[in-house]
Amino acid sequence: MTELLEATAQPTPDPPTPDPMVPRVFRVERTRQDTRDTYTLELSPLDGEPLRFAPGQFTMLQAWGIGEVPISISGDPHGSGLLEHTIRNVGNVTRALVHTSRGATVGVRGPFGTGWEVERGAGGDVVFIVGGIGLAPLRPAILHVVRHRDQYGRVVLLYGARTPDDILFAPDLEHWQDDCGIDVAVTVDNAPHSWRGRVGFVTSLIPRAGFDPLRTTAYVCGPEVMMRSSALALRDRGVAADRIRLSMERSMKCGIGLCGHCQLRELFLCVDGPVLGFDRLEPLMSRWEL
Ligand SMILES: Cc1cc2nc3c(=O)[nH]c(=O)nc-3n(C[C@H](O)[C@H](O)[C@H](O)COP(=O)(O)OP(=O)(O)OC[C@H]3O[C@@H](n4cnc5c(N)ncnc54)[C@H](O)[C@@H]3O)c2cc1C
Repeated sequence: MTELLEATAQPTPDPPTPDPMVPRVFRVERTRQDTRDTYTLELSPLDGEPLRFAPGQFTMLQAWGIGEVPISISGDPHGSGLLEHTIRNVGNVTRALVHTSRGATVGVRGPFGTGWEVERGAGGDVVFIVGGIGLAPLRPAILHVVRHRDQYGRVVLLYGARTPDDILFAPDLEHWQDDCGIDVAVTVDNAPHSWRGRVGFVTSLIPRAGFDPLRTTAYVCGPEVMMRSSALALRDRGVAADRIRLSMERSMKCGIGLCGHCQLRELFLCVDGPVLGFDRLEPLMSRWEL
């Protein structure tokens, strides 16, 4: 097992900048529109030092003069050195970020937070359960598994989007299914008549997914209600709660456990999370007012 863990070891993430409140400056090299409201930015560091991160970590991304928001890293942890962020345009800061011109700069603090620890799933089956833009934070973990595919058993990716137009990273999904030994199943909540695929919530895919619960590690990312119902369904099938990992995206400001914006009872989600086991999260997720 030790050998296996070494073989699948992830790059050691960078510590935050000497002063974690001071952003590094990154240039926008390319912006790709993924769906109607979602864009991927590829960023290069002006100081030439690539940002190393663990899958599941996030940065605080700053549009100068507008504001700063937490955004997960969506690129390959073993990749080219460009930092990738996939951002849904929902408000002031995300709008400014996705419209930052090529060649202009943004601020980056971090990386912050816990990761998926996808190497813990080596030797067993892996199930990714994803809702909507949750595929962005999980993409680095999936790319890690693809790179070390022979060290995992059955790998299943269950993905739910609102409509066919909201399906993120469609070429990746096809590639993972056709070339990488991952069983990908996609479903949508609503579809036009022309859609030939599945319709229904992502949880409806779990019973037919065909993994061995006793040797499965699950990684779940999406809206909180979807993560909770997925985690409960997995646990009912026999997956251990501490092997069900979820990413909690609550409002965050400092990213370093000082300001308290992301406090969830005893947890500061920016440092204790965002990725945590269902064994710790279940009592907190059942109380919406927390
Ligand atoms: C750890 C972490 C990782 C994240 N990763 C990503 C990512 O990879 N891609 C991405 O697009 N977004 C991600 N988010 C959410 C992102 O931070 C918010 O969408 C962003 O803060 C909205 O800022 P805004 O100023 O553009 O919009 P605002 O004007 O602040 O809000 C616009 C709308 O978005 C809602 N909103 C605000 N913050 C959040 C939040 N944290 N989660 C859900 N809804 C929110 C508001 O309720 C409001 O309805 C992440 C959040 C966290 C905590």
